[in-house]
Amino acid sequence: MRFQPVIGLEVHVQLKTSTKIFCGCSTSFGSQPNSQTCPVCLGLPGALPVLNKKVVEFAIKAGLSTNCSITPRSVFARKNYFYPDLPKGYQISQFEDPICQHGWLDIDVNGETKRIGITRIHMEEDAGKLVHGDVSGLEEGSGVDLNRACTPLLEVVSEPDLRSSDEAVSYLKQLHQIVTWLGICDGNMEEGSFRCDANVSVMPVGSATLGTRAEIKNVNSFKFVKQAIEYEIQRQIELIEDGGTVVQETRLFDPNSGKTRSMRGKEEAHDYRYFPDPDLVPLVIDEAWVERTRHGLPELPEQRRQRFMTDFALSDYDAGVLTASRELADYFESCVSLDVNAKSVSNWVMGEITRSLNDSGTSIAQCPVTPPLLVGLLKLIDGGTISGKIAKTVFDEMWRSGKDPAVIVEEQGLVQVSDSGAIEAIIDEILTREAGQVEEYRSGKDKLFGFFVGQVMKASKGKANPAVVNELLLGKLKGR
Ligand code: ADP
Ligand code: MG
Ligand code: ZN
Repeated sequence: MRFQPVIGLEVHVQLKTSTKIFCGCSTSFGSQPNSQTCPVCLGLPGALPVLNKKVVEFAIKAGLSTNCSITPRSVFARKNYFYPDLPKGYQISQFEDPICQHGWLDIDVNGETKRIGITRIHMEEDAGKLVHGDVSGLEEGSGVDLNRACTPLLEVVSEPDLRSSDEAVSYLKQLHQIVTWLGICDGNMEEGSFRCDANVSVMPVGSATLGTRAEIKNVNSFKFVKQAIEYEIQRQIELIEDGGTVVQETRLFDPNSGKTRSMRGKEEAHDYRYFPDPDLVPLVIDEAWVERTRHGLPELPEQRRQRFMTDFALSDYDAGVLTASRELADYFESCVSLDVNAKSVSNWVMGEITRSLNDSGTSIAQCPVTPPLLVGLLKLIDGGTISGKIAKTVFDEMWRSGKDPAVIVEEQGLVQVSDSGAIEAIIDEILTREAGQVEEYRSGKDKLFGFFVGQVMKASKGKANPAVVNELLLGKLKGR
C-alpha cells in the first residue's frame, strides 16, 4: 500500500511588544529570573488582567496579512491545566471566538501555487519556565522563572492541507517572513520567538478519511521541522505496515538522534475545561479599527516581489531573493532611487553585499557600504573610471573603511586606463617579450588570445580598460 502524509501546523509567534499581554512587566529576554514579574503575572489572588492594546493591533495585522477575517467580538477563555510554570492554574487563551479566522497563504510547490488554509489565529499568554540544576544562583533542584509568564503569543493554526515536509517548511518560512516583515515578531527561532507544533498523520493514497495524528511539540528550526516530519511519516508508515495503529499523542523531537519519541497521551479540548474568562470583557473590534490597521500595513513581501519584477524587470528568482527581508528590499530600493541601473544593483546586492554580510555575520541594517556608497561605485564603473575587476578591490576597501569610492580610487591610483597610447605601449612590450607565443598564435593557436589579455591586464595592474585592450591586441596580432 502507498501512503499519503498529511500535515497541519500550529505556530506560536511571540509578539515584540515591550510589555506583557495582561500587565505592564517588561518582556525583554535574558534578565535575572523573576525580576520581571508583578501580582498579575505571578497569578496572585485578586490581581486582575488588563489587555495590552498593542497585542490586539499586532494580531489584526497578522490576520489581515494572512487573508483572515477579523472577528468583531472575540472572547478570552481559560484553558485549565496544572503545571508548576503556570501560577494561575490556567492559561488565558482564546477558544470559541478567536480574533482571526478563515485565512490562507499561497505557497510555491515545484513552480505551482498551492493554497494552504489558516483555520484561526488566536491571542494567548505564554507560561513561565522551569529551571533545573546549578543555574542562575540555584544550587540544586528545580526553580520556576516567571519572567516569560504572560508574554504575548499568537497561535496560528493551519488546516491539514500540507502534504510533505517541503510544503510544511515552505509554509512556515512564508509565515516567518510575514511576521518579521510586519515587525510584530523578532523571528528568533533559537530563543523560541517562533516555534512550531507539527501534526502528522498518514492515510492510504486516495483515501478520503484522515489518519490519526501525532503532534510533535515545539520544534524550533526549519531544519528540525523537516527532519521531525520525515521521521514521523516513516515511523507511522512502518507501524501500520507492521499491523499496528497510530495513537493520538504528543511527541518530542530529539535533534541529536533525529527521532521523535512519545511524551504523553494527547489531551482533548474537553480535558482543558475551557470557559470564558470572567475577568476580561469580550473584545469588540469595529470595522473602522480594522480599516485603519489595513491602511497602516506595509507593502507585503509577495506584493513587493511582484512589483520588483514589473518595475525593475527583475527575474522571479532575483525579486524573491531581494524581498527575503524588508530591510534587504529597502536597501535595494534606496540604491535604485539614486538613479542607477537596477540590474547592476541587483547583481551587487546578491553578490558582493550578500557575501560580505554572510562572511562577517553582519545584518543588512548594519551594512558599512550604504546605498549612496554602493551607487557611487556603480557610477564609477558605468562612467568607465574603473573596471569591474578593480571595483571589487574598491568594494573591499569601502567595506573596511566606509570611505567614499571616488576617494579610494583617487588615493590608490586605481583609475582605469583607456588611453590607447599607454595601452599600446604595454601591448608592444608584452608581444616582444612573448615572441614565441606570438608565433604560435599566428600559426593558428587562437586560444592564446586570453593569455595575452591576461598579461596586459597584469602589467597594467588591472587598470587597463579591457575593451580597449581586446581591440588593440587583436589588431596587433592579426595586423602583422
Ligand atoms: P490541538 O490544540 O488539540 O492540537 P488544534 O485544532 O489547535 O488542536 O490544532 C490541530 C492541528 O492539527 C491543526 O493544525 C490541524 O490542521 C492539524 N490536524 C488535524 N487533524 C489532522 C490529521 N489527521 N493529520 C494531520 N494534521 C491534522
Ligand atoms: Mg495542538
Ligand atoms: Zn507582570
